[in-house]
Amino acid sequence: METTTRLAQFAEDFTAPGGKRLMTVNPAVYTGSTVLFRSYKDLQNALSGSYPGINYGTDRLPPQRDFEAALCELEGGAACRAFQSGINAIINTLMTFTKGGDHILICDNVYGPTARFCQKVLTGYGVEVELLPPDIGEDISTHLRETTRLIFLESPGSNTFEIQDLRAVAEAIQGRDIVTVLDNTWATPLFLKPLELGFDVSIQSVTKYIGGHSDLLLGAVTVNERVKEQFLAFYHLMENFASPAGCAVALKGLRTLPLRLARHQESALAIARWLDQHPLVDTVLHPGLPSHPQHHLWMRDFSGSSGLFAFTLTQEPNDQCLAAFIDNLELFGLGFSWGGFRSLLTASRIKRNFPGPLNNRLLIRLSIGLEAKQDLINDLEQGLAHLL
Ligand SMILES: *Cc1c(COP(=O)(O)O)cnc(C)c1O
Repeated sequence: METTTRLAQFAEDFTAPGGKRLMTVNPAVYTGSTVLFRSYKDLQNALSGSYPGINYGTDRLPPQRDFEAALCELEGGAACRAFQSGINAIINTLMTFTKGGDHILICDNVYGPTARFCQKVLTGYGVEVELLPPDIGEDISTHLRETTRLIFLESPGSNTFEIQDLRAVAEAIQGRDIVTVLDNTWATPLFLKPLELGFDVSIQSVTKYIGGHSDLLLGAVTVNERVKEQFLAFYHLMENFASPAGCAVALKGLRTLPLRLARHQESALAIARWLDQHPLVDTVLHPGLPSHPQHHLWMRDFSGSSGLFAFTLTQEPNDQCLAAFIDNLELFGLGFSWGGFRSLLTASRIKRNFPGPLNNRLLIRLSIGLEAKQDLINDLEQGLAHLL
């Protein structure tokens, strides 16, 4: 059965007021802190941890469980858990699999707050954090130590779009006690399946494409059988949970994800190709373009590309000219985050810890939304004219 079909069918709701089964197409949103037990025996079981039902509001109310089951199936995982936000999912994953004395490897193009948590918090707990070049592959071997316990990658990195050789990394550490984690937000499980490539953990900022409407903050972590037990025990211990209403929105987002991503992909590629021909544009950073340095890896491992990419300019404008370009755009909103129906733009200078052509360059990053691509191209064309 096709993914789109599975997602449309997922999780019908069955409750029984008046003895009749109620079937709404989407599951009901339960809210609550206290869950009432029907008997003293159930209460005792809940206290001893052997109650089979849901025992408290933090114990993953139904919409959360439905969303997790659907995403778990898409990622091909053994278990999935939702978190309040993407960064919360990342932080909890890092805490699950590290302890004082460990050495961990993080790629240099990782989401900024992920790197900051490692460098400012984990190091304080005695974890040694080492940065990896953003295009790391089989060279990973040269970074491994006796104490290496975790490798955290993001492919492509959501600002500079380098791709790592995930298969080579997974192969190089086989048989060692190292947990491999990928932030899979850019591709979503529709376009990349990290667990199939040998990774242990796949993380989604559900806030982005799965939510898809810029009205949700949510994260999710899917794990394989190998690390499942440790992950679930930590989730439970930390009393993590996600909002029932948020999970219902996320489940709704999953149902239309294939349609939206197809559109994001098509428009973003068309706009990337158009920019690539534009005389004011230097480099377009989009893994789907043959000129991208790791295009071959994208071709090998990914089944599509989403709507987020960046470009540099041949002549970097002064602030005034840059403002004229950006402020004259009519269709691109200025704001953080991405993956929604509305096109967005950010512009920033990226500082890297490894030498490379992008270091300190001005990057214009576009999140291509669901508008007609020709309208977006026209808008960029008139905006870029202000740079001349
Ligand atoms: C936005 C983002 C996150 C964090 O997600 P939030 O839900 O906003 O906390 C994590 N990773 C990547 C790649 C992101 O772009």
